[in-house]
Amino acid sequence: MSPSHPHRTASAGTRQVELNPLFARPGEATELPRTRLPRGESLPETAYQIVHDEAMLDGNARLNLATFVGTWMDDHANRLALESADKNMIDKDEYPRTAEIETRCWQMLADLWHSPDPEHTIGTSTIGSSEAAMLGGLALKRRWQQARRAAGKSADRPNLVMSSAVQVCWEKFCNYWDVEARYVPVSREHPMFDGHDLEHYVDENTIGVVAIMGITYTGRYEPVAGIAAALDRIQAETGLDVRIHVDGASGAMVAPFLQPDLEWDFRLERVVSINTSGHKYGLVYPGLGWVVWRTADDLPEDLVFRVSYLGGDMPTFALNFSRPGSQVLLQYYLFLRLGFDGYRRVHETSRSVATFLSGEIGAMDDFELCSDGTDIPVFAWRLTQRPGRNWGLHDLSDRLRMKGWLVPTYPLPDDLADELVQRVVVRNGFSHDLAHAFLDDLRCEVDHLNTLTAPMPAITRQSGFHH
Ligand SMILES: *Cc1c(COP(=O)(O)O)cnc(C)c1O
Repeated sequence: MSPSHPHRTASAGTRQVELNPLFARPGEATELPRTRLPRGESLPETAYQIVHDEAMLDGNARLNLATFVGTWMDDHANRLALESADKNMIDKDEYPRTAEIETRCWQMLADLWHSPDPEHTIGTSTIGSSEAAMLGGLALKRRWQQARRAAGKSADRPNLVMSSAVQVCWEKFCNYWDVEARYVPVSREHPMFDGHDLEHYVDENTIGVVAIMGITYTGRYEPVAGIAAALDRIQAETGLDVRIHVDGASGAMVAPFLQPDLEWDFRLERVVSINTSGHKYGLVYPGLGWVVWRTADDLPEDLVFRVSYLGGDMPTFALNFSRPGSQVLLQYYLFLRLGFDGYRRVHETSRSVATFLSGEIGAMDDFELCSDGTDIPVFAWRLTQRPGRNWGLHDLSDRLRMKGWLVPTYPLPDDLADELVQRVVVRNGFSHDLAHAFLDDLRCEVDHLNTLTAPMPAITRQSGFHH
């Protein structure tokens, strides 16, 4: 704290404060302590300006090509967000309409994902896909435990089978809930999890298999139908009936619009639950996920709590209790505002920007593509083999950063870990104009790096990888 944090006393001073310029007021501290609660009050304008200015240094979200999370909504959404900032999602008795709207939203998703009976299945909003994944995983685990105990067998050693390219939330799930994580490695022959060798991973202790629609590293879809077919073969041979949870954090809000004929959802009988992030291609501000079960029976009843202390008798299945309700209203607003055609158009635009960019980048001498943005509008590339190049992708990330662009460089998992890639996530609001500006900067920085006659000095890197 600055030792001179003064207290405003004289009423004459108050008038002066009103008249004086914001950062030059007598009697007002404009430098406040950073790590301890300030002793006294500040004027709201001063406190606002200080917070506002510091947050301004965060970087420009529109130039952040690393994140999947929505950073733009229209003015009507902004108005709704302000009006509902005080609503607590858990107070379903106090805010019954918000609760009703939450139900409508996941019913719409259940329908979009071809649930056999969308109005009578079960789902919930969450704070994001991570919480949704925990709930999906817990339901799988509980179901497996019940079946094992009913058969008089041990339920001590559950495992979950998934690609090693899963998002970190699945590592967390296994760690937090004592489930053995069985990773199927990605390799040159199998750049993604496609059901090969699944019989070596699945056994009687497998609570389920996770399939990813929109792999974080490359944006590609895992072939859920192929994984389901492999599980069909395993069941025919061994009798093991293993279910699939689809992590559709990004893809479950893209595939229904851009690849409507691709069967990855409840059209496949083995798919029992699906999660998505409302704040990714659901186009809502951060803080919203969804999980839906195929039928109400797929969510074990003993995981559902009924709380009465808010009045009424409300079923809840969530890790959080209190949580903002506004994001749910924003999701409903967008469902009404855009409808199916609107979402399709928004995502088609993002895909056309992504495939344009990937085409241009893939055509450059220094790069080859790992994916081209035709699944979700996300693509990644690596350096071509060329002797005498004196720079790496980290150097390029640094150069782009100087121009304001955030483009992460990171290694692929496992057998591919010696390979560094860069990735661009195209989101709503990343226009063709911005894409051209980005390409100009990229070409300029690559040309500059190619003039280097000695290797760039190695500097310690911080991971810029955004899961
Ligand atoms: C982003 C992402 C998650 C985590 O989602 P949050 O909404 O950020 O919690 C999980 N899985 C995949 C595949 C993702 O892309």
